[in-house]
Amino acid sequence: MNEAARQCGDCSLCCKVLRIPELEKPKDHWCANFAAGAGCRIYPGRPASCRDFACQWLTDPSMGPEWKPSICKLVLDTKPGLLVVHADPAVSKPWRAEPYNSVLRRLAAQGLAVGTLVMVMERRRSIVILPDREVDMGILDVNDRIALERIPTPSGLQWRPRIMGAGEVRG
Ligand code: SF4
Ligand code: SF4
Repeated sequence: MNEAARQCGDCSLCCKVLRIPELEKPKDHWCANFAAGAGCRIYPGRPASCRDFACQWLTDPSMGPEWKPSICKLVLDTKPGLLVVHADPAVSKPWRAEPYNSVLRRLAAQGLAVGTLVMVMERRRSIVILPDREVDMGILDVNDRIALERIPTPSGLQWRPRIMGAGEVRG
């Protein structure tokens, strides 16, 4: 990170929405090591999952101040082929607010061209964002993957997400 890199500052939302396996901290619960106003109580010895994590807002200067997770209540986590959008469960469907929804749909459209899926995690539910709509996929099993297919409809071809289990299509 260079000197101009962003700082987390007063944001600590990833300490709530992420699962931290080393600490057996579940997703969407504040970490027991987090102290409001003081931050991480074990910062020098925090586990690798914490040390290695940097959300999209922290690393992407093209994302404006409105995307700071403490403001938008969304933590964007870029993975190979996947943009995970962790939604703060304390706020009602923050990804549907503007300007966030329009940007996520635009990212979904760009992702279709390069094989990247945009997926909101609301508690344990997975919600696929498409350029024209969102599709709630429910609670996925750990080995489930989502594939996008183009389906003919009366209004033309439409993208449809399908759940791919271990070796089979569950639909
Ligand atoms: S969500 Fe991003 S900005 Fe907020 S504390 Fe975590 S890494 Fe920092
Ligand atoms: S150990 Fe520290 S950095 Fe990691 S989730 Fe807990 S409070 Fe946050």
